[in-house]
Formats: sequence, structure tokens, C-alpha cells
Amino acid sequence: MSKDHLKNKVILTVATTGAVTRREDTPYLPQSPQEIADEVSKCYQAGAAIAHIHVREDDGTPSMNIDKFRETVALIRERCDIVINLTSSGGIGLDEDDRIRPIVELVPELATFDAGTMNWRHETVFDNNPKFLERLGSEMVNFGVKPEIEVFDAGMLYNALHYIKKGMIKEPMHVQFVLGAPGGIAATIENLVFLKGLLPENTTWSAFGIGRMSVPIMMTTIAMGGHIRVGMEDNIFIKKGVLAKSNVEFVEQAKRLVAEIGKELATPDEAREILSLTSVIKSK
Ligand code: ZN
Repeated sequence: MSKDHLKNKVILTVATTGAVTRREDTPYLPQSPQEIADEVSKCYQAGAAIAHIHVREDDGTPSMNIDKFRETVALIRERCDIVINLTSSGGIGLDEDDRIRPIVELVPELATFDAGTMNWRHETVFDNNPKFLERLGSEMVNFGVKPEIEVFDAGMLYNALHYIKKGMIKEPMHVQFVLGAPGGIAATIENLVFLKGLLPENTTWSAFGIGRMSVPIMMTTIAMGGHIRVGMEDNIFIKKGVLAKSNVEFVEQAKRLVAEIGKELATPDEAREILSLTSVIKSK
């Protein structure tokens, strides 16, 4: 079926929490399942179509605790029908079985697939070794969970193409370019144009820049026909030196920029259609 009626629609993902941002950085970070669900619901009302979810332990430590995921997903589902995208990293150095568990037990519509190992913030290694990626990809195919292929550097895109060839990632592929993570490719307009040029046809894609480059990368991404992501996982300042009091402020800002360029935010159902999620089991 033609998707022409959707060509003016921009999918906005909100990443409310992530694994790196701490309460010491911003007191407004949602951390508990209740706080995350309330924040996601408000962002949905403001125009977000996808919620990218991480969870934390009660003390704020990044976690792949299945009970926290289960509770968070259930509370979101009580509130709205936003597309749920669960992290499969959860943070750095977490157990591989725990990283896969939410995919097989909660069957989200989308989950991240970090397509390669990298040095992380000049401190440690973000381990996405080939054996793990093969397992992760296979479970996603088994359970009909669409991977959001996170690309922190150009080589990761070529890894993803390898897994497509092996059948561990199905086409059409959906790619999320992460620009500006220390250890990955820098957040520049030139890098975004280069990365986008590497994508095979029929690929849907999104991009974001971490920190102060988030708005320039977002504007360029919208202009280039990509989808976008905002939230405290990636950036905590709504303008220079001013903390956002809620993720909603980022959603509203993105909505304004999308409107200025003559486009509209996609609803969750439009996002499902654009990303070909319609045949996938919806998160319970
Ligand atoms: Zn994440």
C-alpha cells in the first residue's frame, strides 16, 4: 500500500530517562515507573508517537530489572497507546540475558539494537559483541519485535547490513543515528548528511544529537525527511543554561520546529504504519 499520505509526517520519539542522566544533573528526571508513565502520557498528549523506555532501580542506578519494565509498560498502557520502544542495553555492562528478557517477556513493538561495540565516554566499553547481537536479532525476529538500529558510528550501519544479509534483521530497516556520544561520531551537520547517504532505499530513519547540538541536528533531520527524538536521555537544557522542567518542553519545541518546516507530528498509529509495525503484536 502506498504511504504517500504519510510523507509529511514526522515521528517524534521521547526518551524521558535513559541511563546516563542523573538526578544530580537535573532534579526533573523521571525515574520510577509511575514518574516515567506520567511523563510519557503527558508527552503523548503533546505529540510524541513513540516512548523509548529505560528503567532505574529505586536508588537511580540504570537497570534491566524486568519487574520495573513490566510495571512501567503496564502503567503507560493504562494511560495511552503510544508506541513502546524498550532499550536492550539499559546502561553499560549489564547482563546479556537481562538485556534480552524484556523483548521476549513484554514483546514491545520496537526495541533498540545497538549495532556494534564501542568505547564509551572514554571510560569503558559498550559491549555489543557479535554473539550477543546474533542472539538479540534472532529473538527480535522470533517475537516480531522490530529493531530500532542504533548507529553511533558509520561502521555500525555496515554491521546492520551484515545482519540483514544473514536474516537476523528484517527489511525494511529502521535506523536511529546517535550523534555526539563520546566515542562515537560527532554531532555535526556534515556527519548527518554523510550517514544518511549510506542508507539503503526503503530504510526509515531518525536522528538526534546529544547535548547542545540537539536542536541543529533536529532541524536538519526534519529538513532531510528523517524522524526525530528528544528527551532527557539526550539533553537536559531547553535553552542555554536553562533546565527543562519536563520532557514535555522538548516535545513542544520539536512540534513547533516541525510545524515551521510545513510538516506535522505523526500519531502513534501513523508511526506504526510508517515503520510497518501493524503486523506486530502490540505491547500488552
Ligand atoms: Zn536509550
